[in-house]
Amino acid sequence: MRSRKYTEIRYKIAWNIGALLSLLLYCSGTVPLYSYLRKHLLKRYIILVLTYHRIHDGNEDAPISVKLETFKNQMAYLRKNFDVVSLDDLIDILRNRACLRNDVIAITFDDGWKDNYTSAFQIIKVYGFPVTIFIATDFVGKDYGLTEEEIRIMRENKVAFGAHTVSHKALSEIDYENTKFEIESSKLKIENILQKKVKYFAYPYGKRGLDFNDTSVNIVKETGYSAAFSTNNGCITSDSDIFALERVGVRNFPMFVFKVRVSGIFENKWIRILRDVLHIN
Ligand SMILES: [Zn+2]
Repeated sequence: MRSRKYTEIRYKIAWNIGALLSLLLYCSGTVPLYSYLRKHLLKRYIILVLTYHRIHDGNEDAPISVKLETFKNQMAYLRKNFDVVSLDDLIDILRNRACLRNDVIAITFDDGWKDNYTSAFQIIKVYGFPVTIFIATDFVGKDYGLTEEEIRIMRENKVAFGAHTVSHKALSEIDYENTKFEIESSKLKIENILQKKVKYFAYPYGKRGLDFNDTSVNIVKETGYSAAFSTNNGCITSDSDIFALERVGVRNFPMFVFKVRVSGIFENKWIRILRDVLHIN
């Protein structure tokens, strides 16, 4: 069993190496060239899901927060370079192995923070992007969480909702009965608010083998979800497990890091092998 502290340190090192690599790739012109050749010459397109948490200009929760201006710039970049799709469309593409004509991206938010309504939603509305918010239902109605009313207003404006457990515990650390409760009750509560079926689930913390395991995946399947999302970094490929789909976590990156992260360049075969060797997934 890998210890959490060891894993956190390894991810920190990987993050710093990644940032340095991004700078080199960006400044050398490799990324635009790679993207151009991939899209226009090889006609190979990528499928990505982004993970956001908080959008605000304060200093709290820095590692999971993106400043408003940064978020606006990121959305403008996505509009220009991707087909931004809902999770329904993304799952359709995967199930039907549809032929892509452009890079495809879906935008998700985890937890259900209040600023998803007060900040992010105001920007998303301008672009009309069909985003999904995964809610840990204990957040609902708290000072820092969305209210039921806010959830309903957003639903009327193309925002979809998925479940992210009740209490946001790592599912690998609780027993079978509690895992079942977390996965089932969160689905029921959101369905009750929306009066609509909840189809998607995101695992808290989200690293497969560390924060959730095969038992968690089986319970998610049995509960009737159509797909589930991890926080394992990467593009979605034909090899991806539809009940543990990869995503790319977004922080308050400088724009060049964001552009590198969504370019798909880290999905190169050799970099994947390096990530496997270092257990960075
Ligand atoms: Zn979360």
